[in-house]
Amino acid sequence: MSTHLDWIQEEMQALKEAGFYKYIRTISSPQGAWLVIEGRRVLNFCSNNYLGLANHPRLIEAAKAAIDRYGVGPGAVRVISGTNDLHIELEKRMARFKGVEAAITFQSGFNANLAAIPALVGKEDLIFSDQLNHASIIDGCRLSGAKIVPYEHCDVASLEAAIQANLHQYRRGLIITDGVFSMDGDVTPLDKIYEVAKKYDLLLMVDDAHGEGVLGKGGRGIVDHFGLHGKVDVEVGTMSKAFGVVGGMVAGSTAIVEWLRQRARPFTFSSAVTPADAAACIAAIDLLEASTELVDKLWDNAYYFKGEMKRLGFDTGFSTTPITPIMLGDELLAQNFSRELFEAGIFATANSFPIVPKGKARIRVMISAAHAKEDLNKGLEAFAKVGRQLGVIR
Ligand SMILES: *Cc1c(COP(=O)(O)O)cnc(C)c1O
Repeated sequence: MSTHLDWIQEEMQALKEAGFYKYIRTISSPQGAWLVIEGRRVLNFCSNNYLGLANHPRLIEAAKAAIDRYGVGPGAVRVISGTNDLHIELEKRMARFKGVEAAITFQSGFNANLAAIPALVGKEDLIFSDQLNHASIIDGCRLSGAKIVPYEHCDVASLEAAIQANLHQYRRGLIITDGVFSMDGDVTPLDKIYEVAKKYDLLLMVDDAHGEGVLGKGGRGIVDHFGLHGKVDVEVGTMSKAFGVVGGMVAGSTAIVEWLRQRARPFTFSSAVTPADAAACIAAIDLLEASTELVDKLWDNAYYFKGEMKRLGFDTGFSTTPITPIMLGDELLAQNFSRELFEAGIFATANSFPIVPKGKARIRVMISAAHAKEDLNKGLEAFAKVGRQLGVIR
């Protein structure tokens, strides 16, 4: 018998046949170099827990102490029920860490983009957006109602051409880009983009989700990496990746941060992260300020793994960061590769449309500071074996 929901079954079947269906594994252990998945101990090659902080004793201790003192829930949105002093402390510490005037936190990096973009531009305005920007930037742009003009990926000439062709008809312009592109691992030329923003007097916003805790001195992010302190209007960030916890933020001038406190809808209409989350994030900043050891280890591990993968003959794309895409192209091949890796004890998900463009499926390996050299070698061995078996390398 047919029903009004039959279309879902049909669409699902089509997803499966095209290799776009996402099979999600269930994990029953903390995040780290090794995970327990479906009763098996496997090597973890696909989390964004860059520094291994998601299960760090200092963060756990801070979260537990916060629960003992404040309980588990925030009560309501900050605008209505008041803001916990831990959120204020986190915002002050984050601003100091990143070398900006002020910071404001949100529930996630995704929400930070939905918060910031519509508060800064509206339908009289124009957004210049890198073609490969993250979905949360794209959604934030759509929500704002501004006209969106995409420019070629990381291409400053294309950006400038787009500005010249469009700017005169609008009130304000905003340039938005990912800092590190999450599926390719390349870094936007932010210094050159800043020059363009300055020349045309545009707002400049960078989403540093994969640069936070990774790029710059001791993980201070992409603005520090390029020495652009005080020049980028809005830095969006996340505490869900290298910081090992959860949450999003915007760092920048006091004027912008205070404006977002008044006008950002996810701030006004959605509750904040819990006291335990905020306390764990503060502990992560403590660790990053105390030593660059974890960030250094991350980069050492990443260089080693990527170098060896290239030597084996894998195409690792254009990455200049610890993100290591293994370009496979075909969606079903990528799924098959991931399944064979899992059989060999390696957890590395296949990424396909809509996470990457159609025909550009890949396995994105995420190396972390938590991996030991033996872990990386075990992973390399498995990639070599499966790669030969499936005819990806010789
Ligand atoms: C992961 C990511 C986000 C989302 O961060 P969450 O804290 O997980 O919501 C936003 N922007 C970019 C560029 C990302 O890579």
